Amino acid sequence: MIGIAKRHLQSVRRRDFLAGAALIDGRWVTKVSTDTVVDPATEEDIAEVSRCSARDVNLAVTSAETAFGSWRALLPATRGAILRSWARLMLEHSDDLAVLVTSEQGKPLSESRHEITYGAGFLDWFAAEGERAYGETIPSHKPGSLLQVRMQPIGVSAAITPWNFPVAMITRKAGAALAAGCPIIVKPAPETPLSALAVARLAEEAGVPPGVFQVLVGDPIELSASLLEDTRIRALSFTGSTQVGRLLLEGSAATVKKVSLELGGHAPFLVFDDVDLRKTVRGVMAAKFATSGQDCLAANRIYVQRRIYSDFIDSFAAAISKLRVGHGLDATTDIGPMTKAAVANKCRAQISDAAAKGARVFSPKLGDELGVNFVAPTLLSDVTEEMLIAHEETFGPVAAVLPFDSEEEVVARANANEMGLAGYVYTDNLRRALRLSEQLECGMIGINTASFTGPPIPFGGWKQSGLGREGSRHGLAEYMELKYVCFGDLTG
Ligand code: NAD
Repeated sequence: MIGIAKRHLQSVRRRDFLAGAALIDGRWVTKVSTDTVVDPATEEDIAEVSRCSARDVNLAVTSAETAFGSWRALLPATRGAILRSWARLMLEHSDDLAVLVTSEQGKPLSESRHEITYGAGFLDWFAAEGERAYGETIPSHKPGSLLQVRMQPIGVSAAITPWNFPVAMITRKAGAALAAGCPIIVKPAPETPLSALAVARLAEEAGVPPGVFQVLVGDPIELSASLLEDTRIRALSFTGSTQVGRLLLEGSAATVKKVSLELGGHAPFLVFDDVDLRKTVRGVMAAKFATSGQDCLAANRIYVQRRIYSDFIDSFAAAISKLRVGHGLDATTDIGPMTKAAVANKCRAQISDAAAKGARVFSPKLGDELGVNFVAPTLLSDVTEEMLIAHEETFGPVAAVLPFDSEEEVVARANANEMGLAGYVYTDNLRRALRLSEQLECGMIGINTASFTGPPIPFGGWKQSGLGREGSRHGLAEYMELKYVCFGDLTG
């Protein structure tokens, strides 16, 4: 594996994607101090990126403020045309972008390619949705008056994004902000700056004006503090852990920013005894092992009804034993390394805890020996609610299966968690599916499917999984203010 990322990066056609410069005020800024980007599979240094400071945040906000007036004044269709060009350029350069994502994030190359298509989709979708930021006319409660509600862009916005979807989490936020008429400043995760900076190159090429889309890489605490305290930033969108989300929410209070948070998940995956086992196992494999398990939608608690429990475990174990662990740039890989050592360590701690408390551990393939960031796909059966994995998000390729008896019992157990991002129900009983879609306390539910995200849907969670929504018309509204206007004395 040694050297594989470097070799692939050498073959990236767009050499400027590797320049490591930040995009501030329409200029590519190179700094003397840099941060090193690491291939998580081999722990080799693969690139250097300029480290921005609080001063750069100030410059970026000033530039965004200046750009706001002319960007919001464009016709939505004109902004949409620029977003569409940006999406097209992403697709044109998807091979290069995918190599960057896999080299710094670790996921298999096919998944990185999919992320580029998924990410470009948000730009395309919001290009059109910006034209539909309709207001309302309210039947008047005042004689001789006309009551209007308008949607107007909120102003300069900021995005703090994670490393698990380093491209799509940027375009999901930027597509909405730019379509709404707002400039946005992005602070990507320090683990995955290359793909963020490459996407910024394409934004510039697509005609996004200076100051409208800017990317600054650097110390998360320093840069976030500057973004939070700046009164000129009106909206903040964050994707990441609940722990950091809480800090950002608290930090936004002083300047009363509009905050949207996409935080951690702990998805329950409910399997009833009337299902088609083959289709269900296909679903649970996707819901658990996509992005090597580093997905906030990942099935974290797989509840299986007792009558089919042992058949399910056998089929699930057989499917898991076919997963191949390796470098994401190796075409045969299904499960890459964890992007951060902390994630791999958390997986190992959850496995040991479950084993010590009586879970059965099935881990068919070696993988851990490939490096410290690798975790072999693992099946934990007979998991109980007392085990760490039953109440703490995993974010890795470890599947926890828990038996249940009745519908009432499993709903109560599924809801007994502070997270409420996604939930899955597999059943052939329509009435039950309808009941559960109503009763589960999550922002998104897949009934007999593990695949439900995309630009038109309101992505977001209940409880401590977040605030607000991304994608869909609700995602556009996060970057807009309502304005009520009363025209009086019309009979006059
Ligand atoms: P994280 O919260 O540590 O990092 C996310 C972002 O926050 C990064 O840009 C990071 O640099 C920044 N950050 C970290 N510490 C900060 C601080 N003190 N102040 C300001 N910014 C800070 O999360 P992570 O460990 O990188 O990612 C894993 C978590 O993110 C998981 O819990 C997962 O569920 C969640 N996540 C949620 C979604 C979603 O859509 N709901 C998507 C992806 C990841």
